Amino acid sequence: MLEIHSIDGRNCPVITCDMCGECLDHVGAAAVVFQNFSPPGSKLRLLHVHKGSIDGKTCHREAEALLGTDGAAVGWQEMRAFLTDLISNAGFPPADALDYESRHSPE
Ligand SMILES: [Zn+2]
Repeated sequence: MLEIHSIDGRNCPVITCDMCGECLDHVGAAAVVFQNFSPPGSKLRLLHVHKGSIDGKTCHREAEALLGTDGAAVGWQEMRAFLTDLISNAGFPPADALDYESRHSPE
C-alpha cells in the first residue's frame, strides 16, 4: 500500500506490506504479487509484500494464497522491476528520475 508517513516533520511517501503492514524499506526484500493471465485490458489486483521468506516472513506466500483462491493464476515481480516499470508508465523514465533527484535532493 502506498502511504504518506510523517517523519521528523516531513511528509514521506512509503510502501507498506499489504500483508503485515510494515514498511518495505529494502527494495531487494520486496515484491509485488498479482493476479495473472487475465484477458487483455483487465485491471489486476496487486499486493505489495515482503519477498520470499527473507527474515522468516511469510507475506509473499500469504499474498499468493489470498489472490490464488479458487485456482486463479498468480504472478509476482521483484519490487525493483515493478518500480522501474511504474515510473516509466507514469511518463517518468528512470533516467529522468536520476536527473530530478540530482537537482532536488537536499545537500
Ligand atoms: Zn510483510
